[in-house]
Amino acid sequence: MNITRRQLGGFAALLPFSSAVSPAATGDPDVVIVGAGAAGIAAAKTLIDGGRRVQVIEAAARIGGRCYTDRATFGVPFDRGAAWIRSSTRNALTGLARLYSFDLGTRDANEMLFANGALHARASNPAFERAFFAYSDALAHAADEDGDVAASEIAPPVLDDDARAWMATVAAALGPLDMGVDLNKLSAKDWFQRDENEADRLVRQGLGTLVARLAANIPIAVNTRARRVSVGQGRVRVETERGTISAKAAIVTASIGVLTSGAIAFDPGLDASMLGALSGLQMGLQSKIALRFAPGNPALAYPDDTSIVPQVRDERGHSFLVRPFGAPLVICLTGGSLAWDLSTQVESTNVGFARERLRALLGSKADQGFTAGAATDWGTNPNTLGAFAAALPGQWKARAALAAPIGERVFLAGEALAGKNKQTVHGAHESGLRAGRRVLQLLKS
Ligand SMILES: Cc1cc2nc3c(=O)[nH]c(=O)nc-3n(C[C@H](O)[C@H](O)[C@H](O)COP(=O)(O)OP(=O)(O)OC[C@H]3O[C@@H](n4cnc5c(N)ncnc54)[C@H](O)[C@@H]3O)c2cc1C
Repeated sequence: MNITRRQLGGFAALLPFSSAVSPAATGDPDVVIVGAGAAGIAAAKTLIDGGRRVQVIEAAARIGGRCYTDRATFGVPFDRGAAWIRSSTRNALTGLARLYSFDLGTRDANEMLFANGALHARASNPAFERAFFAYSDALAHAADEDGDVAASEIAPPVLDDDARAWMATVAAALGPLDMGVDLNKLSAKDWFQRDENEADRLVRQGLGTLVARLAANIPIAVNTRARRVSVGQGRVRVETERGTISAKAAIVTASIGVLTSGAIAFDPGLDASMLGALSGLQMGLQSKIALRFAPGNPALAYPDDTSIVPQVRDERGHSFLVRPFGAPLVICLTGGSLAWDLSTQVESTNVGFARERLRALLGSKADQGFTAGAATDWGTNPNTLGAFAAALPGQWKARAALAAPIGERVFLAGEALAGKNKQTVHGAHESGLRAGRRVLQLLKS
């Protein structure tokens, strides 16, 4: 058997994964980091490289947070959370993936549209493009005005009938499926202020596997939930269900959903500016329902990494990712209120929803060779309470206020604080690096 570079790469990428979760506790850490997601891992690495002793504590039984590659359910990698390295040509994760021999997709997604019983390549559907540019242009212009409005208040220009038929589909793509919120909850400025390009790349071994790899040699105690973070007399005390850890500083990376739920108490309490910032943000939701098929199902005839966007009549739309990296999976994505509604339903109802939507595309053959289905639960998971943070209309400045330290020794980090790279893994990673550097500076003085 020939062992190709690709096969070797996949193996190398898997090796350190099992050793990444270290139950080790650092005796007397300089810094406690709450949360072992992309931000917490990056912060820990920065501090360790800067010569500091850290202890990461993680509430869940696994590391990675909203990056989680599940291999058990389908026997192939299924990224339950983040899957694409967004804007891959300009972020550090791409280099780290290459450093650790992970395989990245090499081309942009094969995008298809479904309408009137037929599938078409997006590139050959000018009506969709007209609708897309009309809507996003109108949003961008609104974002340029002094005030900040809900995206639902924007009236895109009147278009020809063909383009108008795609307007609801475009609204779904820009709001719920992209930022996790419906248009009436979407701040035009928050939507606009992002730094992104089209070069999104899937990771063959899973993006969750890559993030877990970055945690190698970092002391992480899993199943350890922070309940209270107190600052006093030059020390920070983090109370957990398994005891209290004392350190010189702390970095808290829990999601906005977790912070606003009050699951972590702060002493001194959060000041008015921080509370105002938290109330200006909401958790958006994106959910995935994955279906596995045996060979012969017509969906598996599409090329790897095909993205299918069906035409819909209102913004509660959905899309499909077909055969990610060749895996025999079809993943139905939902967002915003549709995803929140589905999150109140049992998994089998979610799976039924995705199968019914696939049948609308492929007819009864869509059921051929169906072997298993699974749905994500980011909305109800107490460690996330949503997928990513979005500003409420009028509240686009809220994120910046989160950067202020709490009691001078506690810093927040995570995707919500990632400025123009918000809602992404690389944004969370950069936010963690920044928080780590701020703590190094603090401890020097
Ligand atoms: C379905 C979905 C799809 C996505 N798709 C993409 C994508 O394709 N590309 C992309 O770039 N981004 C994507 N994202 C967003 C991306 O996953 C996040 O922006 C990023 O992973 C957030 O990292 P973080 O470190 O800020 O937070 P988290 O990953 O949430 O890490 C915080 C950690 O803190 C832990 N924690 C919470 N409370 C406590 C406590 N009290 N004590 C101790 N630990 C605690 C949590 O368990 C968690 O592990 C997606 C997210 C979802 C949910």
